[in-house]
Amino acid sequence: VVVTAIVHVGTLVTNDGEVGRGALGVIDDGAVVLEAGRVAWVGATSALPEGAGDERVDAGGRCALPGFVDSHAHLVFAGDRLADFVATTEGDEYAPGGIRTTVDATRRASTAALERHAQALRHEALRAGTTTMESKSGYGLTVDDEARSCRVARAVADEATFLGAHVVPAELVDDPAGYVELVTGPMLAACAPSVRFVDAFCEDGAFDADQARAVLRAGASHGLLGKLHANQLGRGPGVRVAVEEGCVSADHCTYLVDADVDALASSQTVATLLPLTEFATGSGYADGRRLLDAGARVALASNCNPGSGYSTSMSLAIALAVRELGLRVDEAVLAATVGGATALRRDDVGVLRRGARADVLLLEAPSPAYLAYRPGVDLVAGVWKDGERVVVTPAP
Ligand SMILES: [Zn+2]
Repeated sequence: VVVTAIVHVGTLVTNDGEVGRGALGVIDDGAVVLEAGRVAWVGATSALPEGAGDERVDAGGRCALPGFVDSHAHLVFAGDRLADFVATTEGDEYAPGGIRTTVDATRRASTAALERHAQALRHEALRAGTTTMESKSGYGLTVDDEARSCRVARAVADEATFLGAHVVPAELVDDPAGYVELVTGPMLAACAPSVRFVDAFCEDGAFDADQARAVLRAGASHGLLGKLHANQLGRGPGVRVAVEEGCVSADHCTYLVDADVDALASSQTVATLLPLTEFATGSGYADGRRLLDAGARVALASNCNPGSGYSTSMSLAIALAVRELGLRVDEAVLAATVGGATALRRDDVGVLRRGARADVLLLEAPSPAYLAYRPGVDLVAGVWKDGERVVVTPAP
């Protein structure tokens, strides 16, 4: 086992308030030791035990932080929706029905092709600093197509979610109740062994509150934790359904009334904000400031998908959260790391403390604020996942 010591990290973000200062638990001139896939030691470089680390990486004053935890993505699909995207740039509004275009392409694709494509997106995200990533199914919408999508999601991503209730497929558009029965019955039974989470798209044009509740409850009966696509396109019932059903997260939260904010603030349900989608569709942004001020837990995620935001960039999500959602830099960085971990019910990622996963993002920058200050710029100098250096960008 190679033990790696990353030393002279100018700003080491641990997200552990017990070892560092401020909300981000910052250690100045810090060091972190990675051993057997776990963080073995964190502290000031000056306090590093003599001889620690077979391999030393001198960060040269750069900033390091826990790798990003992207708790909401759709990686298993075929084809693209470029035509829909271009239409939204020419005045069309984003509509959930476009999902069916991707469903057709996904059903026609071979499993190997789906896996290759999902793997390519996962790798793209990893190179950009995402060390933990969730993926949903949701473009198969038959028992067999959803089951294989869930298997691909589990193989490619770190966490997998069953999203059979993404939209009613074209062949059952006249029988939505029959489709919900399929989702909560045989489809769920075929998918549950591959996933930890169940999700539904609760929105006009997708599934209503009662249908979403039925899906979440059926998932819970198989031991799955709930998530819900909620309040993306309007002030619907989704957020309150998510809270009442004890979901780990309510995702989107773009259009909220006070009762939604209060419900989130007085619950354990994480409000997962997806500003890359709002950027891509040209809709208004979620009010992250309002949620944080009310006391809600907040996560940032990519929602990478072909129809409403085809980006894996957590850095850009942070920049948008700071400028458009009203988050401070430290809040946005927390939301993209430990917030995502909470939305996945994980306590071993999103934080650099002894025993946590050895997932580290080294920035070509002195401070995490550069993620917002230099939007769209590749600031990745190195990425470690499970203690293995997967991205190396040597300094000139
Ligand atoms: Zn989504």
